[in-house]
Amino acid sequence: MRYSGLKVITQGLFGNKGWKPAWRDPEPKAEYDAVIIGGGGHGLSTAYYLAKNHGLRNIAVLEKGYLGGGNVGRNTTIVRANYFLPGNSEFYSHSLKLWEKLETELNYNVMHSQRGQVVLFHSDGQRDAAVRRANAIVNQGDDAEILDVPTLKERFPFLDYEQTRFPIYGGMNQARAGTARHDAVAWGYARGADQMGVDLIQNCEVTGIDIEGGRVVGVQTTRGAIKAKKVGMVAAGRSGQVAAMAGMRLPVESHIMQAYVTEGLKPCIDTVISFGMGHFYISQSDKGGLIFGGDIDFYASYAARGNLPMLEHVMEAGMTLMPMIGRAKVLRTWGGIMDMTPDGSPIIDKTHIEGLFVDAGWNYGGFKATPASGWCMAHLMATGQTHEVAAKFRLDRFRTGHLLDEEGTGSQHNLH
Ligand SMILES: Cc1cc2nc3c(=O)[nH]c(=O)nc-3n(C[C@H](O)[C@H](O)[C@H](O)COP(=O)(O)OP(=O)(O)OC[C@H]3O[C@@H](n4cnc5c(N)ncnc54)[C@H](O)[C@@H]3O)c2cc1C
Repeated sequence: MRYSGLKVITQGLFGNKGWKPAWRDPEPKAEYDAVIIGGGGHGLSTAYYLAKNHGLRNIAVLEKGYLGGGNVGRNTTIVRANYFLPGNSEFYSHSLKLWEKLETELNYNVMHSQRGQVVLFHSDGQRDAAVRRANAIVNQGDDAEILDVPTLKERFPFLDYEQTRFPIYGGMNQARAGTARHDAVAWGYARGADQMGVDLIQNCEVTGIDIEGGRVVGVQTTRGAIKAKKVGMVAAGRSGQVAAMAGMRLPVESHIMQAYVTEGLKPCIDTVISFGMGHFYISQSDKGGLIFGGDIDFYASYAARGNLPMLEHVMEAGMTLMPMIGRAKVLRTWGGIMDMTPDGSPIIDKTHIEGLFVDAGWNYGGFKATPASGWCMAHLMATGQTHEVAAKFRLDRFRTGHLLDEEGTGSQHNLH
């Protein structure tokens, strides 16, 4: 069923009784050409592009919970392409271009809103770094501009410009950055993949990876054994555990990151604002709630919930930047499990086991990568070749020392 404005109107007139489920609920088959472990944004987009770009149809996505229940439905929804290092910048540039056509591509409203993102800077050193970053972004073919304090004051009168510790010196704006509705991205890819025949198997936890003679031959699941010649591990915060089933130890640690949402307010923040001296970023949802987040909880954990000291730390960052936030009531918080790499950049690569691939290490920035991650992982799984925009996301960089050391959050504390 194609979605359209006309369909919404006619369904509304006749009691909304004609909508069909957006995807099937199939029983797992005994064998597939390719199996993806993890039905988050990256797993679903991998399956979608395997079918769409490479013509593979006999594919299953195995999800231990429900589609969209992981980080893809828990993030603070920021989409941007403002990376500096070669290796990262072309990848996120590619991703943003895919975002810009995603709703038409999927025939699904993912509420992608290019409302911009302003990363503030708070010292001369940070200003220099922001200008350098902006030039690199423009050279990459994306957009960036430096905003001075009078311009910022006009747009954001509520920021505390004069505070003695972190006065605001200006900001770097990317107008094409913005937000999207996080779980709708999972639903859109799920529906698109299902329409091309991909089996989306929910409540199906992978408990083992079968390897014979150095080749992957299938997986063990809570719904039985499934054979497959190709297996993609796309399990985000659980990547380390899934890779361990194949005897691998990934250079990944899992940490919790929390998100916070206030009561609905009148429109007051029409962009995304990132604090340059702390890991704090904020936007306003279409329902009016302020959505914000900050640092990860500083210990490794698989519990998808956070602790109160980090909540206090993030609230302090918010109060430092915009004291008005103290008047808003926080209604909800939740946590997601981050797969943190030592250099802050991801991994899309083959493994030493024939037919077994890994897509992991998305840290706190993988939502914006969802389209390009699936695109590149599908390319790798289908052709055996690394896609050119993911050429540096190799596992061996941790052995050779060719790290892609870019936290990518905007704040660079060492420059203050
Ligand atoms: C609070 C928070 C804020 C964030 N903010 C942003 C942001 O503003 N911008 C941004 O770009 N990124 C952000 N991120 C990061 C982003 O959400 C993640 O990097 C990204 O969603 C990870 O990829 P995914 O969608 O595939 O993960 P997930 O949705 O977590 O998918 C992985 C799936 O694998 C499944 N799985 C795990 N183990 C197994 C198994 N054994 N068998 C079967 N299935 C399994 C899980 O159930 C899960 O559904 C944020 C994350 C959090 C938690």
